[in-house]
Amino acid sequence: ETSAFAELVAKPEALTLYKPRHKFAHKGDYGHSLLVGGGYGKIGSVLLSVNAALRTGAGLATAYIPECGYEILQTAVPEAMVITDTEDDYITKITINFEPTVIGIGMGMGTHDKTVTAFSEFLKQNTSKLVIDADAINILAKETNLLPLLGAQTILTPHPGELKRLIGTWKDDFDKIKKVKEFSIAHDCIVVVKGANTLVIYKDDIYVNTSGNPGMATAGSGDVLTGILTGLISQGYEPLYAAVLGVYLHGSAGDLAIQETGYQGLLASDIVSHIGKSYL
Ligand code: AMP
Ligand code: MG
Repeated sequence: ETSAFAELVAKPEALTLYKPRHKFAHKGDYGHSLLVGGGYGKIGSVLLSVNAALRTGAGLATAYIPECGYEILQTAVPEAMVITDTEDDYITKITINFEPTVIGIGMGMGTHDKTVTAFSEFLKQNTSKLVIDADAINILAKETNLLPLLGAQTILTPHPGELKRLIGTWKDDFDKIKKVKEFSIAHDCIVVVKGANTLVIYKDDIYVNTSGNPGMATAGSGDVLTGILTGLISQGYEPLYAAVLGVYLHGSAGDLAIQETGYQGLLASDIVSHIGKSYL
């Protein structure tokens, strides 16, 4: 009934989206990324995301985390700035005194009652572009009254479990795509359906990624993707193109990394190390 569109995304398609750096560039041209998440025992998730945003080319990057992660993050990623919550172990209030270009939120964040409240208060006043992942998706799936607060073209990056919480179960792949499309239209958001051959769905448009490998089925892989998407929007890519190019670069970085590590040996941090070379 609609003029559905699906495009396979390989190197030539990714190249058409890529914006090279120019000689007179300065970091102010590439925005300020904020990554919000983490909790006791899960600071690594934000560490991977903020590192990935910087490796993708964000001009500046800040992590907003619970207090317990302060030294870990400052030590592991000295290039990133850190703002801490007043609570040690989880996020209770998302207070920021600057306007980030883009915010990636949800990695390792948990769903403590106070975190849920902090997230909903945050959505009410936020004006930055958004990439929503992991527990922030889980909160939205439960508190559906928050969905109208999402700005236009917010990106959501569910893995299969998170997607099920968000849109319910599906009969087959066609049914899944139909439901994601309906969700995207209803809330004007871009849905990144993660897996082998990740789909980027925005209303009637579907992009099918061709890069990546099963070595990427490993802890933290999705946190790296959130950082890449945030880092691209930070540099001025429109959210839809950031999603399409970012999913491709993430897969491509994974493909370069396994040449050194093999499938089983791949760690999410190896994907981060290869982001630079994954640019075409
Ligand atoms: P998460 O479950 O949030 O850590 O996300 C996993 C990430 O790894 C997503 O970006 C997936 O697309 C990617 N991934 C997982 N399994 C595969 C696979 N078999 N082939 C390619 N990419 C994968
Ligand atoms: Mg994840």
